[in-house]
Amino acid sequence: MFGEPQIETPPVPVAERPAQLESLAEEVAGCERCPLLAASRTQTVFGEGSATARLMFVGEAPGADEDRTGRPFIGRAGALLTDMITKGMGLDRGDVYIANVLKSRPPENRDPLPEEVAHCLPYLERQIAIIRPEFLCLLGKVAASTLLETALPMGRLRGKWHRYRGIPTVVTYHPSYLLRNPAAKKDAWGDLQMLMQAMGLKPPARKEDRPDEMADGRGTQLR
Ligand code: URA
Repeated sequence: MFGEPQIETPPVPVAERPAQLESLAEEVAGCERCPLLAASRTQTVFGEGSATARLMFVGEAPGADEDRTGRPFIGRAGALLTDMITKGMGLDRGDVYIANVLKSRPPENRDPLPEEVAHCLPYLERQIAIIRPEFLCLLGKVAASTLLETALPMGRLRGKWHRYRGIPTVVTYHPSYLLRNPAAKKDAWGDLQMLMQAMGLKPPARKEDRPDEMADGRGTQLR
């Protein structure tokens, strides 16, 4: 259905991926391309998950919880993302890979500056090239506009397939947006279903496994 990815570098053998990711993470940890972010961060947040993940999620930038722990998506938005992965898609968090466009927290959680995105993007590109996921899910506008090189609004990007270097890519709302706008969870669930269908995944069957957090805000389950 989707054809082959078009990543210029040759595929990294599975056995070499963890070491390559680790060495890239070390490079990122010492990065000072953005002096302000390097001075204000507690630590970099490289990303985590399976080096052979079929699916990679890409968010925007670490927040306070992530900066404190060094792990992506572990605050409130992270809890929702985890529910989307586990209760919604029936996967374990460790089955997928989770990364961000920026590896350092912007002060006061402000939006990433264009030059910060430009400095950090090569790291994300190398992560994607090492893991070579079959599918990408871009969470929110920063991830979508950066990887798809588009200025289109979220409303025009979600709900359809895109390609990043040949990798079938879905755009959906950022979990932080969903926390502020619970009515949009219905659309996000539609995006995940599109992804699951292409991946050959079935939602977890038992009703009690359904994610409360994915309810549409009116007490109605989405599936
Ligand atoms: N928001 C993001 O975009 N990334 C994180 O890791 C946490 C919150």
